[in-house]
Amino acid sequence: MRYARVLIKLSGGAFSGAAESGIERSAVDGLVDEIKALAELGVEVAIMVGGGNIFRGRLATDWGIERAEADNIGMMATVVNSLILRGALTSHGSHEVRVMTAIPIASVAEPYIRLRAIKHLEKGYIVVFAAGIGQPFVTTDYPAVQRAIEIRADAIFAAKQGVAGVFAEDPKRNPHAKRYEQITYDDVVSRGLTVMDQSAFILARDHRIPIHVFDAGDRDAMRKIALGEPTGTYVGPDAVTRFSEG
Ligand code: UDP
Repeated sequence: MRYARVLIKLSGGAFSGAAESGIERSAVDGLVDEIKALAELGVEVAIMVGGGNIFRGRLATDWGIERAEADNIGMMATVVNSLILRGALTSHGSHEVRVMTAIPIASVAEPYIRLRAIKHLEKGYIVVFAAGIGQPFVTTDYPAVQRAIEIRADAIFAAKQGVAGVFAEDPKRNPHAKRYEQITYDDVVSRGLTVMDQSAFILARDHRIPIHVFDAGDRDAMRKIALGEPTGTYVGPDAVTRFSEG
């Protein structure tokens, strides 16, 4: 096994599948199958859940809502997705699942406590992180890297809806855009590639934590990556920037 402990970053879009927004049962079921397959390999799994399928803080101006307030709404959206994911994982599988939230909502989820999260993982529980880091003015990308470092994950699996890795241009705008097979952290930043927030790549670089970016709809991707099969784009301390052949 290439990795013993991973943190999956699930964009909110992974919950809406082909729909533009909201929560699609079939998309969630697909995610559950993939996460279960990974856990059944014996990999310890933590998940940072996004909320963009419901609300993002950057919609603040459109809605005339103050940014910090809009970010609170976005964080609550991640809690909704996290609870859906826990419910779906629990109903489909035998793994214990814990939601840990960065904002206090004691009656629905545990507070995030780093050592307790690590203990859960050691026991084979799946740990779902809700509400990012509980502060406004960031998305869940930076918190995904931060939590991965805190829990000593070996890698981050970044599942993007409909985007099969890091591309030289936005593949939704240019279907012929070239995909990187590997790329260095510095090249992601200097080339202005926006697949995740740049702050997330800089934090990952400074702590030498690898990030695999792949399509959330690619049903076997997580298992393949855990087994060491090249899938999507690899960004890591030993990456060499090069495009995929295919
Ligand atoms: N958010 C925040 N602080 C955090 C994490 C998230 O304020 O630590 C808010 C922010 O407004 C963000 C929203 O929650 O836009 C939903 O998360 P995100 O945009 O990362 O969702 P994704 O794009 O992954 O679906």
